[in-house]
Amino acid sequence: MATTKSRRRRLRFGGGEVETLGDGIARVKGIKNVQAGEIVIFQDGTRGLALNLEENNVGVVLLGTSYRLSQGSKVFCTAEIARVPVGEDLLGRVVNPLGKPIDGQADYRSAGMSEKRLLLRRIESSAPGIVVRRSVEQPMQTGVIAIDSMIPVGRGQRELIIGDRQTGKTSIALDAIINQVGSKVICVYVAVGQRAYTVGQIKEALETTGALAQTVIVAACANESAALQYISPYVGATVAEHFMYEGCDTLVIYDDLSKQAQAYREISLILRRPPGREAYPGDVFYLHSRLLERAAKLGAAAGGGSMTALPIVETQAGDVSAYIPTNVISITDGQIFLSKDLFNAGVRPAIDVGLSVSRVGSAAQIKALKQVAGKLKLELAQFAELQAFSKFASELDNVTKFRLDRGMRLREMLKQPRTAPIPVEEQIAIIYAGTNGYLDDLSLDQVGPYLKDYRERVRQASTSDKRPYIDTVRTTKVLDDGLQRLLAETAQEVLKNYVRK
Ligand code: ATP
Ligand code: MG
Repeated sequence: MATTKSRRRRLRFGGGEVETLGDGIARVKGIKNVQAGEIVIFQDGTRGLALNLEENNVGVVLLGTSYRLSQGSKVFCTAEIARVPVGEDLLGRVVNPLGKPIDGQADYRSAGMSEKRLLLRRIESSAPGIVVRRSVEQPMQTGVIAIDSMIPVGRGQRELIIGDRQTGKTSIALDAIINQVGSKVICVYVAVGQRAYTVGQIKEALETTGALAQTVIVAACANESAALQYISPYVGATVAEHFMYEGCDTLVIYDDLSKQAQAYREISLILRRPPGREAYPGDVFYLHSRLLERAAKLGAAAGGGSMTALPIVETQAGDVSAYIPTNVISITDGQIFLSKDLFNAGVRPAIDVGLSVSRVGSAAQIKALKQVAGKLKLELAQFAELQAFSKFASELDNVTKFRLDRGMRLREMLKQPRTAPIPVEEQIAIIYAGTNGYLDDLSLDQVGPYLKDYRERVRQASTSDKRPYIDTVRTTKVLDDGLQRLLAETAQEVLKNYVRK
């Protein structure tokens, strides 16, 4: 129950009472000096967030549901802006946006864990200033070959994952988390308005791959109030921010911001704020900009930590020019566009390379990957162009046919199952084989098995002067002549086992 301190505060700030109540919103009169964003407590212990400060009353959204409140119920101020517990004890846990564990395991407070490992932190805080930041310089590898090679993400970057429903958005985000196993990157996955079952599956996927131990899941499922869905991304950012200021690299996923915008629209309409385009309130841009601005790469003086944000936005029928998609596209440093057509054609992950872009990440890409990725991008661009045009032609000249064949094999090469991220050293070897023509003599369905064998060989391969491929690339980050020769020899060697059907 209430501590003496907060009781004293309540006395100082006085209480008010509920005037009207409905749809998760209470209008409260008589609470003087309440601040915007302050937590208020109802007489039955339910918490609320003061959002609309008006002349005669205050509009409060309920954080949670209560059936014991009525007109005239007492309301107390707390003089506290909403805060949540952050710290190491959250790792491996699923919490709701109020910081309570919802994974059925012991509450970290009652489990007698050290107090020091959990701190309270405000869910709304201002983004790091310009002076303490530095530009993106380290890669945040996702393990998805098409992304790391052509749309690279750097630590501290904000990269949007956008696409229709069921196009593999969540899968890409999960791959990015799973790929951090073995590194010190702390991951936060925020689930907004998803089914509890889906969140359970996500937890399971992270658990089986060993990524859960360094991940915090913040979940406001579809049955939670709009208010909790609205605050959950800020809570996720707060959890990550704590680690960032401690000097850690963090990765935070907001899945997805369209649902958060809808929850915010719901609250705003019930609070009778004026609706604007698509009935969203006027400050819906600020809703997302103040969240994504909190992602940063800090300079050494500020601890050198970083927060990489991968927000997800759902489109309707691929329409990226709708209100929320254009807003978030303009706030982020690039987008990964997932196409329904590609997904249905069996290209998975269904990344549309032509519409995807990363505006800052290539500065952080490792040199060896840069060496091979340029050619890949070019060949795929040529392929996309020729493919559109060759639909009309009955006979193709040899060069066109060659480009189309090569493109189809490269596309096959970029296919990747979910939850199976590929280490960057192997990505480089794969792209080297693809762009140097070692896949050209294979039939399309041989490409997958061939690459599997090839990867296995590459993992064991060493140059003539006894330098193992994987370790050398990992330490030098360059693909020198010796290593290129080694890849060429290995690719050719494996090719012997595959005769074109
Ligand atoms: P929603 O809009 O429902 O959130 P989403 O865009 O997040 O969907 P996912 O849930 O990630 O999409 O994936 C949709 C389906 O596609 C899932 O059944 C998943 O197993 C499948 N899928 C995703 N990525 C791949 C892949 N690389 N290879 C094969 N199947 C995949
Ligand atoms: Mg999803």
